[in-house]
Amino acid sequence: MSVRNISKEALAGSITLGVVFVAGYFFGKKKSSTMSISKSHCGGKDNPLLQYVLNHSMREHPVLKSLRLRTMEDSWSIMMVACEQSQLMANLARLIKAKKALEIGVYTGYNTLNMALALPDDGVLVACDISEEYTNIGKPFWKEAGVEHKIDLRIQPALKTLDDLLSASQAETFDFVFIDADKVNYDSYYEKSLQLLRKGGIIAVDNVLWGGKVINPAPDDQDTVAIDKLNKKLHRDTRINLSMLTVGDGVTLAIKL
Ligand code: SAM
Ligand code: CA
Repeated sequence: MSVRNISKEALAGSITLGVVFVAGYFFGKKKSSTMSISKSHCGGKDNPLLQYVLNHSMREHPVLKSLRLRTMEDSWSIMMVACEQSQLMANLARLIKAKKALEIGVYTGYNTLNMALALPDDGVLVACDISEEYTNIGKPFWKEAGVEHKIDLRIQPALKTLDDLLSASQAETFDFVFIDADKVNYDSYYEKSLQLLRKGGIIAVDNVLWGGKVINPAPDDQDTVAIDKLNKKLHRDTRINLSMLTVGDGVTLAIKL
């Protein structure tokens, strides 16, 4: 059908819809970019101040850098932790002299590698994921960095791994936990991790800002509702001290009392 055959009203309606769609698209983009804290994969993108922070603080191990560049080739690279956040967590692990750590949600294992590098040679990191495909990307890099002997990768639902650890009398033995898998299970991950953690140990809960959606969670958005619910619970939780940081997509550090 040619444009000449369409009635003026229909054409006007289509143009109006088109304008509304394009305006909505750009407004939505603008709105979401102002709602989220910059997340970096070691590049400041359009944020010169973040770039300055990265230029003046990142000390990325050469194999970590190679893994990051390999991860950027993957279509799900957005899932990778912000590199400055990963460095912070590795430094916290060093600070508390962590020997035993747990990572819930590995993906290609950028943070797994960073954490393993921070652990002593006889340290152990129990790494939980359900995907061989993603974790196989990281394995050669863990080997190249000489830390694969510290990584105990368990491919099965993380809840099962946490239950296995509890059944194996490993409660109160972990120094550091990073929660970064499916959001609807965050509360269960937190409760089981708290049991596994020693006093003075740290749980880092990732994506606590969820791109800004936590400010006004849509009732049918299960991920946002789960994150917001846990944020509110942690704020009241007398079993921990906490700080909610705006690094990356937001990370809460919970220190067991
Ligand atoms: N921590 C990673 C990093 O530093 O780059 C990013 C993790 S990514 C956001 C989430 C991961 O959780 C994915 O690799 C996914 O396969 C995994 N995952 C999703 N559901 C899971 C479950 N029920 N148990 C274990 N892992 C799960
Ligand atoms: Ca994350």
